[in-house]
Amino acid sequence: MGTYPMSDEDRAIQERTRRFVDEELIPWETHAEEHGGEIPGEAREAHRRAAVELGLYAMNMPKELGGGGFSMFQQVLVSEQIGRVTNALGWCVHTPPAWAPGVVSAEQLERWIVPTISGERHECYAITEAGAGSDVDAIEATARRDGDAYVLNGTKMHVTSYNTADYCFFQAKIEGGPHAGEHAMFFVDKDTPGVHLVREPAYSHTYPDSHAIVAFEDVRVAASNIVGEEGDGLDFTYAWFRYERLMIAARCCGAAERLIEEATAFAKQRVQFGEPIIAFQAIQHMLADSLTELWAARLMTYELARNIDRGVDVKVQHAQCSMTKLFASEMANRVADRAVQVFGGRGYMRENVAERFFREVRVDRIWEGTSEIQRNIIADQLAKRGVEVLVG
Ligand SMILES: Cc1cc2nc3c(=O)[nH]c(=O)nc-3n(C[C@H](O)[C@H](O)[C@H](O)COP(=O)(O)OP(=O)(O)OC[C@H]3O[C@@H](n4cnc5c(N)ncnc54)[C@H](O)[C@@H]3O)c2cc1C
Repeated sequence: MGTYPMSDEDRAIQERTRRFVDEELIPWETHAEEHGGEIPGEAREAHRRAAVELGLYAMNMPKELGGGGFSMFQQVLVSEQIGRVTNALGWCVHTPPAWAPGVVSAEQLERWIVPTISGERHECYAITEAGAGSDVDAIEATARRDGDAYVLNGTKMHVTSYNTADYCFFQAKIEGGPHAGEHAMFFVDKDTPGVHLVREPAYSHTYPDSHAIVAFEDVRVAASNIVGEEGDGLDFTYAWFRYERLMIAARCCGAAERLIEEATAFAKQRVQFGEPIIAFQAIQHMLADSLTELWAARLMTYELARNIDRGVDVKVQHAQCSMTKLFASEMANRVADRAVQVFGGRGYMRENVAERFFREVRVDRIWEGTSEIQRNIIADQLAKRGVEVLVG
């Protein structure tokens, strides 16, 4: 049991998630790795059902809509445990778009969001394009109003979970009218004519979820599919970024914890030159640095979650989400690299947890804004608000 102060309810949530991860998910890791990220359908369904029964599925959504209504701190505790398992097995604990209930229409809530909370529907995000990654404002996708409809065009890449989703959030710029050139976001059902898969490239990690390239060609959606108003599109994306950056940090802490536990256990039993390798100072220092950095990242992650629960100013949250994601993702990458080293040749084998995490945590320095972009955000906020406001 940890020592960080939390309520009995928080501790119970943390412990039941940990048990679920240890007893139900981790045992499937090597199978998933050896089968392109897949596990048998019954096992996947059992995981989904368990996530629902444990109250973890849609933990971030309001209780009155069928979600868990967890505090941000509780969500971080869950995500941290989920981060301890590889191959996206933890994605059975799905977190639908928390920004949505406050901004979508009653019809959109009923048609897309509530069924997503209950697990009947599944979303994906189609924002990034070949020419627009870090620079989201460079997107070329367009939305043209035509009577009571919009006509959408554009090709999106890295669309995560396109293979499991049945609708997309599609980000475009308005063509013509008073909001020409401004961003807008749309609900687009995958089976709408004109939406088609270009290809599903292979990525470093072994996940069952694809990251697709998807073309939207003259896709006609009802005008009521727009989220909010013309010009609002980027606000939702930023809200989603903030949330995901914090959850990435939490998952990175979980990954680091698992790696340190496993590498320490290995170092205690692996004998070379007549001694367990943990007796060698070079090994000790790798583990000591890893543990120290994990503690720092975890404290940042927990404190940020508590700040959000306390209602800290959203601009301050924005900077703190960037600092936390930057530090925790870079920390997890250093820890994974050291863990591979501690395991030696075994650490280079796909059946080894360090090898899998070494590939998996790499993307945490890239998605939801690269480390360089996080630094840009932090420096911008520092110049505008000063040290005291951001870390005081
Ligand atoms: C596995 C995976 C899943 C993803 N899932 C989704 C998804 O579901 N939906 C979606 O829309 N997108 C998704 N993305 C896209 C992701 O958000 C982008 O990859 C990310 O924002 C970086 O954009 P980019 O890859 O185009 O890199 P680029 O923007 O081309 O950056 C290339 C390099 O230049 C650096 N750079 C760029 N601008 C600056 C600057 N101003 N200052 C300093 N350095 C800079 C970057 O840090 C990076 O090192 C996913 C990506 C991956 C890898």
